[in-house]
Amino acid sequence: MSQQRKQISDLARQERIAFKKHSLLRMHERKINADEVKKEEKAMKCALCNGKMMKGYTHLTYEIDGSFFLVVKDVPAMVCNQCGEAFVEIGVVRVVEKIVEVAKHDGVTLGIVKYKAAA
Ligand SMILES: [Zn+2]
Repeated sequence: MSQQRKQISDLARQERIAFKKHSLLRMHERKINADEVKKEEKAMKCALCNGKMMKGYTHLTYEIDGSFFLVVKDVPAMVCNQCGEAFVEIGVVRVVEKIVEVAKHDGVTLGIVKYKAAA
């Protein structure tokens, strides 16, 4: 584990960030588009466990080539009341992507930003 990685995991522990893949990444992995994600959101049922989706917040973590790591905190999302899986609306995802772009452009390699403060 590199020094930076250790730093990141320490930070994450302090901030109590769950290191699971977020729905944006999963969207790309599953090769589904925003409309399909929207459909899943409308159903208000968790795609993983069929639990009930409630309004809440989640963290989105971005790691690119191990040299860029950004956590966006307090992102509005629908959160499963059973397994905690979070689904983020496409409009929100676009804002988060902009935050990530700005951070990359500013030369950030490791950081935590609040959605509300940055949006
Ligand atoms: Zn669930």
